[in-house]
Amino acid sequence: MTHAIIEVGKLVKTFGVNPVLRGLDLDVPRGQFLTLLGPNGSGKTTLLRILAALARPTSGTVRIGGWDLPAEASQVRAQLGVVSHLPLLYDTLTATENLMFFARLYDLPAGERGDRIEAVLRRVGLWRRANDVVQTYSRGMQQRLAIARAILHDPAVLLLDEPYTGLDQDAAALLDELLREVAIAGRTVLMTTHDLRRGHALADRIAILSRGKIAFDRLTDEVEADTLPALYTDVTGTVTTR
Ligand code: ADP
Repeated sequence: MTHAIIEVGKLVKTFGVNPVLRGLDLDVPRGQFLTLLGPNGSGKTTLLRILAALARPTSGTVRIGGWDLPAEASQVRAQLGVVSHLPLLYDTLTATENLMFFARLYDLPAGERGDRIEAVLRRVGLWRRANDVVQTYSRGMQQRLAIARAILHDPAVLLLDEPYTGLDQDAAALLDELLREVAIAGRTVLMTTHDLRRGHALADRIAILSRGKIAFDRLTDEVEADTLPALYTDVTGTVTTR
């Protein structure tokens, strides 16, 4: 009956004796943009790393596009684009060279790589700088290149972990535009952020992670942006998200 592309059931993740995720349930329908809020240390990155097949659950079920984690990790990875606050790019290579490396990693057909790289670099506004090495890029340009890499293999799901960290206002506004575009293209997006206003503006749905579970979960239409800070404080017991 579920049409969710991301299905998480009773997810537990423990580090040593420290339970971080404590039976978390979360289903995300295909095409939805979900903003995940939560205090520092509440487990947002841990959840995203598990969804990205970079960390294993202690127990519970995680399924993406019908594939189970951790058993079917490579099928899951093929459907995912991941952007974290660290761009994880090769500094001494150009944008094109970086993307060529990932095109091979994603197994894109050799004859299509060049065209695909041009298309994504145009999409993120970096085509004119395609042959400059990444160390000459601003932080905002590096983040856009990280998004180009994440959408290179046209994944159904984008996982974004605090993508606005370290961006100035202009770079953040460009990223807003870009995320709206990729969301409109029908992708499912799960984004963590500390920026309540931005998270509200972009998302179809807002969830708050607190004490190891989804403690708040509403469609954005049902939540006034102005009331979100007070709601956040109510749910988490903390004033700011930082
Ligand atoms: P958030 O992204 O919400 O700030 P994290 O997922 O980064 O939270 O961290 C949640 C908790 O898990 C923190 O207490 C953190 O110290 C702990 N943690 C995260 N990764 C590890 C790890 N590899 N080993 C031990 N503890 C970890």
